[in-house]
Amino acid sequence: MTEDADADAETAADLAERVREGDLRLYELEEHADAATAAAARRELLAAETAADLDAIGSYTFDAADAEANIENMVGAAQVPMGVVGPVPVDGEAASGDEYLPLATTEGALVASVNRGCAAIRAGGGATARVLKNAMTRAPVFRVRDVGEASEVASWVRANVPALREAAEATTSHGELRDVTPYVVGDNVFLRFAYDTKDAMGMNMATIATEEACDVVEAETPASLVALSGNLCSDKKPAAVNSVEGRGRTVAADVVIPADTVESVLKTTPAAIAEANTRKNLVGSAKAGSLGFNAHAANTVAAAFLATGQDAAQVVEGSNAITTADVREVETEDGTQEALYASITLASLEVGTVGGGTKLPTQAEALDVLGVRGGGDPAGSNADALAEVIATGALAGELSLLGALASSHLASAHEELGR
Ligand code: NAP
Repeated sequence: MTEDADADAETAADLAERVREGDLRLYELEEHADAATAAAARRELLAAETAADLDAIGSYTFDAADAEANIENMVGAAQVPMGVVGPVPVDGEAASGDEYLPLATTEGALVASVNRGCAAIRAGGGATARVLKNAMTRAPVFRVRDVGEASEVASWVRANVPALREAAEATTSHGELRDVTPYVVGDNVFLRFAYDTKDAMGMNMATIATEEACDVVEAETPASLVALSGNLCSDKKPAAVNSVEGRGRTVAADVVIPADTVESVLKTTPAAIAEANTRKNLVGSAKAGSLGFNAHAANTVAAAFLATGQDAAQVVEGSNAITTADVREVETEDGTQEALYASITLASLEVGTVGGGTKLPTQAEALDVLGVRGGGDPAGSNADALAEVIATGALAGELSLLGALASSHLASAHEELGR
């Protein structure tokens, strides 16, 4: 241990002692020491109280001070293994070329599975990906007297979007208010504000901008603001409104894979994958009352979110996806051939390349792998590219799992037939 580290350790011990004596609260330590020492003091307290060994939690590589905007009561870091899939060719509007996608997960076999799907997409000539809509939403709820007044407020809002836009956009140099949609339920008026937040995921940006616009609504109408978020946004809760209207990026990816490639890479046939998709992802999900009609989009989305510094709780709406698969005829050099058409459409993928956790060192390096760290040129293009690659990765995950299910079904069918 160096002399400096010794001094730090003493300081951490002193701080821990002051907390024990009731002189300091656990959350006040950064006011009396640098962020790393404060975290060390908390570890000391926690280790003493719980008998847990916190050496691994305390072994992190970033500067604790750099994480102050991301965490309170810091004790260290949770390290999640990171793998990579690719290269996968993506023909997107913002992303283009052979892409690698870093994935952080503790689920063994996930990266291998998505990588196998990437191989199938690569062998099929690559995926097409597009961001179809870009609208981060915040929906405050207002109290009104009755449905008559609610109707008046809704009409006023529809006629005065430019005034609301002026107020909202005064708070940000990047965000643009796209739309405000009123919803009335009895004496409640919800206004769903939708923003283009460019390269930011935009939840803070949209919230700050909406607060300003709410002041205008309250000044010009009889409506009284009850809550800046009225849950029709809908953030971090499964909600049909996000499936239908989208939230963040609505992004889709698809691919056409010739039958011989499906057979060599996925060990099955286009028809078997299409049947598995229909019966499992469509019929099974419908019977389950599911919002997402997919095999495991959440796996790829969650692992990509952890790797690239996205808000992990937004996997709830980020995995809201529909997977389709059909058999198609395609023209090849050898004449007409059967092929698999597969697509995934993620209705509400909330991603950013600035703000939030994207600045932390490992997450920023993962964004570098994709070439999308920070603001894009034009603004918004980096977050679009990230969304297109994540959608392609999610498509790869769908193909691989559907292929595995279809091939084991085929294998067991062959076994049965062979007996
Ligand atoms: P943020 O870090 O609060 O803001 C990002 C800022 O980056 C923008 O406000 C923008 O400044 C600036 N910026 C610079 N270059 C930009 C570019 N190319 N494109 C867009 N913006 C650019 O991040 P945020 O995305 O708004 O919010 C994400 C954070 O909100 C995450 O930490 C998340 O966990 C948290 N969150 C908040 C809520 C909430 O209700 N407040 C809910 C869920 C999650 P200007 O605005 O000045 O242009």
